Amino acid sequence: MYFSLPKEYRESTNEDLKERIAAAKERLGNKLVILAHHYQRLEVVGFGDYIGDSYGLSKIAAEQKDVETIVFCGVHFMAESADILTDESKNVYLPNPLAGCPMADMAEMADVMEAWEYLEEFGGDKTFMPISYMNTAAGLKAFTGRHGGLICTSSNADAAYKWAFERRKKLFFFPDEHLGYNSGIKYGLKPEEMVIWDFSRDGGGLTTEQIDRARVILWKGHCHVHTNFTAEHVREVREKYPGVLVVVHPECPREVVELADAAGSTRFITEYCAKAPSGATIAIGTEINLINRMAHQYLDKKIFELSGQTCPVCANMYRTTINDLAYTLENLGEIKPIKVKEPVRGEALLALEKMLEVN
Ligand code: SF4
Repeated sequence: MYFSLPKEYRESTNEDLKERIAAAKERLGNKLVILAHHYQRLEVVGFGDYIGDSYGLSKIAAEQKDVETIVFCGVHFMAESADILTDESKNVYLPNPLAGCPMADMAEMADVMEAWEYLEEFGGDKTFMPISYMNTAAGLKAFTGRHGGLICTSSNADAAYKWAFERRKKLFFFPDEHLGYNSGIKYGLKPEEMVIWDFSRDGGGLTTEQIDRARVILWKGHCHVHTNFTAEHVREVREKYPGVLVVVHPECPREVVELADAAGSTRFITEYCAKAPSGATIAIGTEINLINRMAHQYLDKKIFELSGQTCPVCANMYRTTINDLAYTLENLGEIKPIKVKEPVRGEALLALEKMLEVN
């Protein structure tokens, strides 16, 4: 896909863009809502009517009544989910159409279908409950809904495991192996009860005995931002800052989560920072834009990025600029909104509604 902003928007000054965005917001009034993910740039977040993680923002999208236009400053799967969760009269826009999620791209429809076909021999949906992480394309959410499963986010993954195991013997979790594994351990599973389905290998690279024994089949996928963090980073930070509190996102590898003081969703991390006592030193293992905002917000605490070496930025979240936002707000009639068509929409909605119920 090629996308380039008109010159006028590329070359405007920040002051001009900010004035134009503010004027558009004023003009559109309560017919417009801007949702901004925590990982967005600071200046974009500043225009958000709501700031949150993918779970919180989906919930807010679903609750909108009189709004006609939802501008979702995030990545593609989030805007798609917002469209599915709202009625036909609402239009959802993604200010930068190139903002995708590499982790979501690790679960291709054809590969997941091939895996599922194989798992049919082991009981299919009589045995396996599909759980799709929010970070997937609408078609995979529809697949999940069709087979009685649900969508989870890092906020409700633990509850999703409980819900699923109350209904079926085994889980098929995609596409983040780390969130799936960390949630499994939290649920009480043993490491040997979870196996990784490698979509590049026949039969996922698993033997029939492994599949028979497993309680969770985890898709081989990851977030390149969160897998940057290592156990060594945690050890180093503890040595350098005795008494430091380490909080990480559950998309981080198991050994990092194990050594941290706490692990949880983006919302959990923001609350952790808010609740920490004044004077606390907090090292965070997640996306850098969120960490920087926490550091600016809580000046009485020393908040910084865990690795101290890498810059864990989500380049896709970073794509959205105030230039994109100004262009979107001033050209709503010209830009194609994100629309998920039937039957995908209806099937995906089943799985998303379960996500909202299970928390
Ligand atoms: S931080 Fe990771 S999972 Fe989240 S949108 Fe970026 S690449 Fe995807």
